Amino acid sequence: MDIKANLLAVKKTFINEDCLLVAVSKTKPLSDLMDAYQAGIRDFGENKVQELQSKQAQMPDDVKWHMIGHLQSNKVKYIASFVHLIHGVDSFKLLKEINKQGKKINRIIPVLLQIHIAEEETKFGFDKNELNEMLSNPDFLNLTHVNVQGLMGMATFTEDIDQVRKEFRNLKSLFEELKALQLPAFVQLDDISMGMSGDYLIAQEEGSTIVRIGSAIFGGRS
Ligand SMILES: *Cc1c(COP(=O)(O)O)cnc(C)c1O
Repeated sequence: MDIKANLLAVKKTFINEDCLLVAVSKTKPLSDLMDAYQAGIRDFGENKVQELQSKQAQMPDDVKWHMIGHLQSNKVKYIASFVHLIHGVDSFKLLKEINKQGKKINRIIPVLLQIHIAEEETKFGFDKNELNEMLSNPDFLNLTHVNVQGLMGMATFTEDIDQVRKEFRNLKSLFEELKALQLPAFVQLDDISMGMSGDYLIAQEEGSTIVRIGSAIFGGRS
């Protein structure tokens, strides 16, 4: 697997050069991460807390670690001190726990709210009602140690490009709707994390600012 060549090939296809590439290195050995690091990658994505911790301890200090998977509230404490961005915040409970852990160590933790855009039941995320409920909850205003940097979504796993495009478009329009609201200052809404190996070009066409790409860089996972 020529990771550097894969990276160059992926980058070459980008429609938006400013879109941040997060290299999703879950299940891959450190040597693969180091190949990507040497090719210039500094943003890495992992979906398991333990693996994230262990790789963080072994990789160079200037790596920015993205937690992209489902995060359980009781595990926030293990990554609060170093995580660069938590993509998958899918409940108010989790957001409050991140805030609590941030407060403990006096760190404002950047997060994205995961929105359920796919048809599949299995994908995590807020639906519109849940999101509105949280935003209108008085306790939401009391958050002091999180920065809501934007939204994240995963499209349905399907060959149907129109379906995928529609889902990304829905996420983008929700993003614009939220931006038009009067929200507290810690809700900044700068980023939309959408797009993976199979659909990042569609995602970029629909306004993605962060793509999370694994297999197109590191090869398939068993
Ligand atoms: C694994 C994973 C990715 C990367 O998937 P690829 O298809 O390998 O690019 C992106 N986002 C999330 C949330 C993931 O779990």
